[in-house]
Amino acid sequence: MIIIGGGIGGLASALRLLHKGYEVEVFEKENTLGGRVNQIISNLGYRFDLSASILLLPQTFYELFSDLGLNLQDYLEMNLLHPTYRVFYKNQEIIDFSTELAELVPQLESFSSEDAAGYLAWLTDIYNKYRVIDESFLRKSFESLGEFLNPKTMANLLKSKPFNSTTDYLKSFIKDERVLNYLSFQAMFIGMNPYESSNLYTLLPAVSQLYGLYYIKGGMYELIKVLEKLILEKGGRIHLNSEVQKIVTSNHRAIGVSVGGDFIKGDIILANADVLYVNECLLGESPQKYKMSCSTYILYLGVKQKLPKFSVHNLYIGPEFEKNITAPFIGAVPEKPSLYVYMPTSIDENLAPKGCECLNIMVRVPNLLKANVWNTEAKEGLKTYIYDVLEQLTEIAEFEKVVEFESDFTPVDMLNKFNASLGSAFGVSPDLNQTNYFRPHHKSKTYEGLYYVGASTHPGTGISLVLHSAKLVSDIICHNK
Ligand SMILES: Cc1cc2nc3c(=O)[nH]c(=O)nc-3n(C[C@H](O)[C@H](O)[C@H](O)COP(=O)(O)OP(=O)(O)OC[C@H]3O[C@@H](n4cnc5c(N)ncnc54)[C@H](O)[C@@H]3O)c2cc1C
Repeated sequence: MIIIGGGIGGLASALRLLHKGYEVEVFEKENTLGGRVNQIISNLGYRFDLSASILLLPQTFYELFSDLGLNLQDYLEMNLLHPTYRVFYKNQEIIDFSTELAELVPQLESFSSEDAAGYLAWLTDIYNKYRVIDESFLRKSFESLGEFLNPKTMANLLKSKPFNSTTDYLKSFIKDERVLNYLSFQAMFIGMNPYESSNLYTLLPAVSQLYGLYYIKGGMYELIKVLEKLILEKGGRIHLNSEVQKIVTSNHRAIGVSVGGDFIKGDIILANADVLYVNECLLGESPQKYKMSCSTYILYLGVKQKLPKFSVHNLYIGPEFEKNITAPFIGAVPEKPSLYVYMPTSIDENLAPKGCECLNIMVRVPNLLKANVWNTEAKEGLKTYIYDVLEQLTEIAEFEKVVEFESDFTPVDMLNKFNASLGSAFGVSPDLNQTNYFRPHHKSKTYEGLYYVGASTHPGTGISLVLHSAKLVSDIICHNK
């Protein structure tokens, strides 16, 4: 079988299918595997995770290895992070949100005992929703409407009460604005607007609290290196710099792919490249009408001194929080966005020269639907703003003087490098009407032998959900469902 794309979805599926005895060949257009889980290595010795950095739901990572008869700990060193997030507010206040309830509760009580009780009540409520969602939605493939519309699934959907927004839901438990902004900001991690998206997306801060955030020693890309090694050990073949130009079909059946002008035959074709791109560009179908998630601007800085104020995962809650967080969803580049700042070198010194730090600063920006929004002026404006915020947070005047490496990644890079439709960071937007049965399916309805895996398919975006997607599609292929 042929897999188009060596992102996390393609690699996890390759391993699962090799384990079941399939012959697997992976074709990846870039010169490295990993797709959006990738890395940048500077010649000064800085190593940056390209995009994904937050390891949620570690159990899904363990599950992949145990399903292969392996023990993750034999391959990767994964450590629980303390604190979960360090949050910087515009009035210079800094709050560490701890994984440990014994530390978090007194912290919340110092705001008010009502907020501490509210936080715990929210956590209980969302945990109950999570149990329903995990069992009834994340682990089902929803290839048919019947599977989705059955009475039990409908009852569970209603039980999860998904309809009010993230911010309204949180406000029904918590009053403190600092805590509200900290929690609602995290909807942005899957490219959602917390003022409009379903309250179910408070699952992100909830599972971070309940199961912790983990860090893979060496950075997220270590996972990709291990998957690559295992695929080769199990006899899989990997072709880098090999962009598939076309999926070849005959009599409503996918029969192979075209790469560099050569026809390569395959009984099963599994597309890990974004579904919308695959259907439009590799099959010549008309564009599908899905709303795509927002995109991201990322600035990578190699800093030639230690920055003790930062933890691994840092949030900066900026001015006019609602206006700036909403901007990308109405097609505007935010002027003064809140920021996510990732600094793994605070616990992993091997990623930078001695005494130095790696910083990834991420801003949510519009995707490329409105072609004229993303331009040099927008990019330079964000860069200047980010440097200003860094000066304020680190108390280092002229921050650019301590920076010895700078690079960035824009929505246009996302489009060109990974064929991500509209340069979207998170694929098809996980609005409720684009989830479950209503998200692109794993099995093609048009061509026998063609399947899809990845962030734009069910259950959705983020490494742990894409690992679920790989499991679902592998089961469908193995059981010829
Ligand atoms: C900025 C950013 C931050 C993120 N942060 C996190 C995070 O902290 N935690 C988390 O869990 N998730 C995070 N995510 C989401 C996560 O990275 C993605 O959901 C996941 O990596 C998507 O994997 P995938 O396999 O679906 O697709 P991709 O990674 O896009 O893989 C698709 C692959 O197909 C290849 N390809 C495309 N076209 C072709 C072709 N014609 N021929 C051959 N190959 C082709 C691409 O080059 C790519 O390698 C983040 C994403 C972004 C963009």
